[in-house]
Amino acid sequence: MTLNPAKAFAAHSATTPLTFTPIQRREPGPTDVEIDIQFCGVCHSDIHTARSEWGPAKYPCVPGHEIVGHVTRVGAEVSQFKVGQHVGVGCLVDSCRTCINCQAGLEQYCTGGSTGTYNSADKHTGGHTLGGYSSSIVVDQGFVLRIPEGMDLAAAAPLLCAGITTYSPLRHWKVGPGMKVGIVGLGGLGHMGVKLAHAMGAHVVLFTTSPKKVEDGLKLGANEVVVSTDAAAMKPHSGTFDFILDCVSAQHDINSYLKLLKLNGTLTLVGAPEQPLPVAAFSIISQRRSFAGSGIGGIRETQEMLDFCAEHKILPEIEMIRMDQVNEAWERVVKQDVHYRFVIDMATLSA
Ligand code: NAP
Ligand code: ZN
Ligand code: ZN
Repeated sequence: MTLNPAKAFAAHSATTPLTFTPIQRREPGPTDVEIDIQFCGVCHSDIHTARSEWGPAKYPCVPGHEIVGHVTRVGAEVSQFKVGQHVGVGCLVDSCRTCINCQAGLEQYCTGGSTGTYNSADKHTGGHTLGGYSSSIVVDQGFVLRIPEGMDLAAAAPLLCAGITTYSPLRHWKVGPGMKVGIVGLGGLGHMGVKLAHAMGAHVVLFTTSPKKVEDGLKLGANEVVVSTDAAAMKPHSGTFDFILDCVSAQHDINSYLKLLKLNGTLTLVGAPEQPLPVAAFSIISQRRSFAGSGIGGIRETQEMLDFCAEHKILPEIEMIRMDQVNEAWERVVKQDVHYRFVIDMATLSA
């Protein structure tokens, strides 16, 4: 393989901080786009993965799947992207492209297994994929997104995971006017869930364990904010929700939210805590409730979400950090102290 050196921050074990690590990208092939990464969002999945919370990670682990930058080189067969163009890469860099789900634009559910932006088997190098906490990336044009003209590049980054992961289930369960929708957990995903559900016309209720986030929740577009540890505040909502999106990263009692659904209501889990969440039978038998899950989103829908956000002027609330502040930022994410997405300025990446 021809060498195409890049710089990165990587975890070398589940328990050590991320450190500067030189890496190699592939030389762009005929259908590849090479991207100079300008910004990368910090998703809680980066932490779960690098710390082997979801099972053993492959090291060195370079996280990052909220990637925004500009095109530096394109392969001979690339028709959709030009050098200099602003582009994004989300959680996927490849899939089989032929199975029934890929054909339907649902590459995240590829029956052969899609290729994640980091920690997946890399068909090109034989190693594993390395994500966006790095200076550049080479991605097949089929998995590159167009950043809408004029959109703030740094703020656009979290749309590539937090945006699409909340947009996709809100669309699938047809959230819109006349519906009462709950969003659980005000972190990176949750704050996008609030903004998007509000823009789709629903009555939005935010559930948070952090009383100091109540005011922010209202500013972000929630009609009501409930501190979920307050049983008296939870009670009047019992049996009233059409749809609830659970964006919580850690262990919590899912039954207390299932009980809030009305007849035929659905609670969809996007948060991915490392341990199973026990569901009491009568939490779903009563009122014929559904307990569902949803994973990120396909490429077509991710582009639709970016265009929706541009049209509705929706952007994540970000706190910009230098690359060398990432370990500190991770600790703050784990402590529920992120307002509401960290974005790394990749120009600060150095040894
Ligand atoms: P985040 O920014 O850390 O937000 C998680 C929020 O969950 C926190 O802000 C907090 O909200 C709440 N929370 C945290 N610990 C809690 C606890 N012990 N009890 C109750 N609530 C708690 O994380 P994120 O980046 O939004 O990601 C959220 C989850 O979604 C992660 O598990 C991530 O891996 C997963 N994820 C899944 C997909 C998918 O495809 N399904 C995609 C991306 C991410 P409050 O302070 O408001 O309570
Ligand atoms: Zn993510
Ligand atoms: Zn497929």
